[in-house]
Amino acid sequence: MQGKGSRGETQATGEHDGSAKGGARLYVVATPIGNLADVTLRALETLRAVDTVFAEDTRHAGALLAHHGIRARIAALHEHNERAAAQRMCRDLAAGRSVALVSDAGTPGISDPGALAVAAVRAAGYAVVPVPGPSAAVAALSVAGMPGPHAFIGFLPAQGAARRAALAAWRAFEHTLVLYEAPHRIVECVADLAAVLGSGRTLVLARELTKVFETVHVCALGAARAWLEADADRRRGEFVLVVAGATGGAAAARAAEGERVLRLLLADLPVKRAVRLAADITGARKNELYALALALKETA
Ligand code: SAM
Repeated sequence: MQGKGSRGETQATGEHDGSAKGGARLYVVATPIGNLADVTLRALETLRAVDTVFAEDTRHAGALLAHHGIRARIAALHEHNERAAAQRMCRDLAAGRSVALVSDAGTPGISDPGALAVAAVRAAGYAVVPVPGPSAAVAALSVAGMPGPHAFIGFLPAQGAARRAALAAWRAFEHTLVLYEAPHRIVECVADLAAVLGSGRTLVLARELTKVFETVHVCALGAARAWLEADADRRRGEFVLVVAGATGGAAAARAAEGERVLRLLLADLPVKRAVRLAADITGARKNELYALALALKETA
């Protein structure tokens, strides 16, 4: 770290925008996604050195810090107080005190609070420094065996129709998709993925990564629901879903053309008739067009 906060940071972090004010910084620190040993040396040094650790859940962060023998001041920064917490960060930085931001698990700002605070701190003229480490999406991708590029979607909308409409926008996307999902929605989510994206695509379902019940299951999207429903334990815990992109060439072209024709027909025809005609005209799959038509109707 450059400059010494009142807790005496000593570590060099390299160049930052020369226009940044003073030596105090915001460090955005990744923490474990399950296995407590997955914390970097630099994360621990940083958390030990800063004046205040802003945390999504103060008790959770307190347990992590205590596990590593770190006695830091902890303040809350979560989705309901992020703006006010960011102002408090700026006051600390103005007083020359460096601060850190951690979320409950993984990297702050990745489907977690943090973006607003980072932007506010930078806008106030202070340097923001990443202290990288675990993130569930990257951990899942590292064992998925799926080629890049990868698109990280994070959480889809919780509500069925909105979720299917959001997925429809990714139908023709030819690259790997990465999603997060909560256990109580995992079955509906994989069913919608199969219906909207097509049941033949490969899914890597990465569950409870780095934890005792870590599971990496590979199957066709169309088989995922049955696999989850076969055993309640398979539906517990935290999930990352990695989905193969649309197959290029003829199939993708048919799907895209099917969607174009379907949208036109839906303006004048009932769903079933529009779907049948669009499938006959373009060769796109009828069940995929039907799911898409329902999603389009519901969100119209
Ligand atoms: N910031 C975190 C990151 O960098 O991965 C993500 C936070 S987001 C609120 C929580 C979601 O991440 C979970 O619902 C799950 O989808 C995914 N996740 C977190 N830990 C996981 C784990 N150990 N195994 C699988 N997925 C995990």
